[in-house]
Amino acid sequence: MDCALAAAAGQTLRRAPRVLVAEDHPVNRLLARRLLEKLGFEAAVAADGAVALSMWRADPGEFDLILMDIQMPNLDGLETARLIRSDETRRSDLCRHTPIVALTAHAMVGDEELCLAAGMDAYLSKPIEVARLKSTLQRFLAVEGRDAARRRIR
Ligand code: MN
Repeated sequence: MDCALAAAAGQTLRRAPRVLVAEDHPVNRLLARRLLEKLGFEAAVAADGAVALSMWRADPGEFDLILMDIQMPNLDGLETARLIRSDETRRSDLCRHTPIVALTAHAMVGDEELCLAAGMDAYLSKPIEVARLKSTLQRFLAVEGRDAARRRIR
């Protein structure tokens, strides 16, 4: 399917935005999922970057946004983001840029630059604050959760 056809098909699809959470810490993963569901999003989870990458590669159009922890086993968040951006650039069948928002426990000088250099779009420090999560998701998804998503024609 080419990009124009994909866009046309997308206009007939109505659903809540889906967010993939890549986070190795089980408590943080559960918390993020619950916050997302409370805000009206559908959430999927991955326990490390390698799993997140394979989930994204299985269907690059599946997720409207990825929340990406930085420090994870197997494949860290920075490398996972680089690989996703590399695929998006290389594969002519991919028509979209999946927004990636970094999650990091380290609010250190330079972290934001590292995340952006790896191809991520924004940055949230942990613990996740619901108001900041909501405003960041709204910025990229242009919806106010489930009700808005129902009204929206995608
Ligand atoms: Mn981690």
